Amino acid sequence: MRKPIIAGNWKMYKTPKESLAFLDAFLPLVEDHTRDEILVCPTMSSLGYVLEATIGTNVRGCAQNMHWLNEGPYTGQTSPTMLVSIGCRHVLLGHSEQRLYFNETYERVNLKLKAAINHGITPIVCVGELLAEREDMKTEETLRSQVRAALRNISANEARRLVIAYEPIWAIGTGSTASPEVAAEAHKIIRHEISHCCGEQTAENTRILYGGSVKPENISALMQQEQIDGALVGGASLVPTTFANIVHYA
Ligand code: PGA
Repeated sequence: MRKPIIAGNWKMYKTPKESLAFLDAFLPLVEDHTRDEILVCPTMSSLGYVLEATIGTNVRGCAQNMHWLNEGPYTGQTSPTMLVSIGCRHVLLGHSEQRLYFNETYERVNLKLKAAINHGITPIVCVGELLAEREDMKTEETLRSQVRAALRNISANEARRLVIAYEPIWAIGTGSTASPEVAAEAHKIIRHEISHCCGEQTAENTRILYGGSVKPENISALMQQEQIDGALVGGASLVPTTFANIVHYA
């Protein structure tokens, strides 16, 4: 069985002080929750504080990105070794905002994915099509090529911890969520491609999260889909009560 993950992507919001205030309010609201894994993804400046404040709780801190090398002259970057050294065991890779605004490529996501696996960090690889690609009936082609590029030369054994987030770019921050059926269809395509790259068992075990305007009002319908194993939540993860309501979906 695939244990669902509900992850809050805070993007470039919340100072350390604001992150800790969030946790003060949020942790008691979800402390008895065991059905899903709960993650929050703060900025690098808050990550250490969040990791420390969540020790011994059922919430984990997740980085929003990382480099694939351990150290070097790469201004502005954080390495997998550095994440591990502060107790971070999860990382988002290839978020569409990284691809759209910071030239992230799937070749680099592949290198980062390998590095994460080698360091025992659970990678959450984001994929998703543009509105124009969906309108041109290119969704399947786009998703398959993104998954294939990310999983290049990754063995079934290495892909054991893999998590994918399907985030259609037209649904991110727009308020227009993919319908549960549309999302499930995309998840099926992604699972099929994982099977192609790393075998059927890996595809069966890989958790595929949906992201894009997830709210307390639409989470239950999304989670009812057999194909959907959790959510990556942006805007609605910034307020403790709202995010707790998502975690407690019916
Ligand atoms: P959103 O963002 O929930 O605000 O649409 C999702 C994401 O970008 O991860």
